[in-house]
This record gives sequence, C-alpha cells and structure tokens, in this order.
Amino acid sequence: MKKIGVLTSGGDSPGMNAAIRAVVRKAIYHNVEVYGIYNGYQGLINGNIKKLELGSVGDIIHRGGTMLYTARCPEFKEREVQLKGIEQLKKFGIEGLVVIGGDGSYRGARALTELGYPCVGVPGTIDNDIPGTDFTIGFDTALNTVIDSIDKIRDTATSHDRTYVIEVMGRNAGDIALWAGMAGGAESILIPEESHDMNDIINKLNRGHDRGKKHSIIVVAEGVGSGFEIGQEIQRHTGAETRVTVLGHVQRGGSPTAHDRVLASRLAASAVELLMEGKGGRAVGIVNNKLVDYDIIEALKMPHVIDQKMYKLSDELSI
Ligand code: ADP
Repeated sequence: MKKIGVLTSGGDSPGMNAAIRAVVRKAIYHNVEVYGIYNGYQGLINGNIKKLELGSVGDIIHRGGTMLYTARCPEFKEREVQLKGIEQLKKFGIEGLVVIGGDGSYRGARALTELGYPCVGVPGTIDNDIPGTDFTIGFDTALNTVIDSIDKIRDTATSHDRTYVIEVMGRNAGDIALWAGMAGGAESILIPEESHDMNDIINKLNRGHDRGKKHSIIVVAEGVGSGFEIGQEIQRHTGAETRVTVLGHVQRGGSPTAHDRVLASRLAASAVELLMEGKGGRAVGIVNNKLVDYDIIEALKMPHVIDQKMYKLSDELSI
C-alpha cells in the first residue's frame, strides 16, 4: 500500500494523539502517504479527509484528546453508509485504514473489512475492555488521574473521619475500578463483572471503624449502579458520614503517561506495518509486552475478562 488513512472514533482517550503521530511518521518513513480522516466515521462519509505531513503531527505526543477529533455516527451501522465511506476512501486513492478506538469503532472497522476494505484496529479507550490486548491506549493515564483523586480524597477523608464512595468510569468493564482500587488502597471495589454483597461491605467497614480506622474508601465502577445510592445505603447501615464523588470526564483527559505514549507508538506503528504488508481485517494488541495481531472479527467475539486473581487479592489486602 502506498496511501493509507487514519481516524479516531468513539470515546477519546489520552494517547490517541501519540498513536496518530506514530501512524504518520512510520508511514512517511517508509514512503507511504497518510490521510487524516476528521471526526471519525462521520467525517469519513462526509469526505472530511486531508493529507497529513510530518509537521502535521508535531507537538502533539504529550497532548490528550485527538487532533483528528472524534464523533459518534450511529448511521455507520447501515451497509449503504459504509459503502459511501469506502467510496470516499477510494476517491482519495486511500488503500487501507487505521481505526483507533474502542469496541464500537472496531465494529465499524469489521464492517468495512467484511465489505472487502482493509482496516486495522488500534485499541484506544480508557476502559481497557478490548479483548486480545493486555492494555488499551489511555487506560494508564485514566488510572493515574483516578489515583491522584483518590489520594486527595483520602487526605480529607482522614481529617474528617468519613467514608468516601468514588464512582469511576466503566459501564461494562471494571478495570479502572479494580486497578485504581488496588493502587488507592480501597476497602471495597465494586465492578460489573462480579456480584457484591452489601452486608460484606458494611461488615468490613464496621470492623475497620472498630479498629480505629480514620477513613474508608469504596471504589465503584459506574456499571454497577449509582455511587450516590450506594453511598446512601452505606450511611444508613453504618451510621458513618458518607460522601460520594463521581469523577466523570476528568478521567478522559490529560497529558498521556509515558506508558500510554510508548504503547500508542508501538501499537500504531505495528498497524501501519500490517497495512504495508497488505494485511487488513486485523486488530493489534500487546500481550506479555509483545506486539500481537489477530482477526478483528474473532476479536469482537472474545469476551472481556477481569483478572480474577487480582480481584481476589484486592479483597485480601483490604481485610
Ligand atoms: P467506542 O469505539 O469508544 O466503543 P462507540 O461504541 O460509540 O465508541 O462506537 C463508535 C462508532 O463506531 C459509532 O458511533 C459508529 O459510527 C461505529 N460503530 C459502532 N458499532 C458499529 C457497528 N455495529 N457497525 C458499524 N459501525 C459501528
């Protein structure tokens, strides 16, 4: 391939810019032209496409968000809309596409692949919920944002002898909650993949209080339910003053961590390599610190699994 395209789609994540930069630089290094498709699949069907040069991606490696912007485009689920997208790509002579995004964006890439257009998926989401990769681009940054907040909340929780419920992102995946809960020393971690018993949580809080513990932190993934309702229930049963913080979209922003920048650079460059070899219909990932690629159609069939051992350990460490 001598001309490829790149787009970011769905929810943005810190490190997407580093990934775009790597696509552009890797391709140009190998004499391949790169076109940026702005505003995800919406921009694709509208032909919002511009050639990117080396300088187009200067000074973005450290910036959150995505210089190509992103959008949700529900109509991209329709076959004729997808065909319109392929038509636009062909109009510019673009022979293959790198799609940086989450599982919804992967489904768009799968649809194009099924129509015979080569696409490679790069996992960009803070949720860490893409099968076939140990880590997604943006997860580490989001995690560190959450930890920063938990540490700050812990200071005030200790001063006031309060219980804090912290709601973090993760509708279907509890990775942010599990990792942040463990790194933040939370008493309990509630994730959508595992059922929880409110009595156990309350008993643990009471035991801690009896031992003279000055604060308690409960981390809840948004997919489990409302942090406010959980907080009210805890206050009702323990009598302890309970406050709730919903971290929300701060988790999506910020300068990517070194880990996310390196991960983005490696994954995006390997996506370009695949397209240069003429391979489409793939998704790239990192497993045991080795780059891997796999069939994007198969990838979407794999379930996302939580690390059971880590979940169990988090419970043991917060005894
Ligand atoms: P994410 O990629 O972060 O999971 P979304 O689930 O919102 O975000 O998906 C992003 C975009 O991918 C959607 O707005 C739509 O354009 C496209 N998309 C999602 N599901 C499909 C599908 N089944 N077929 C084709 N395109 C899809």
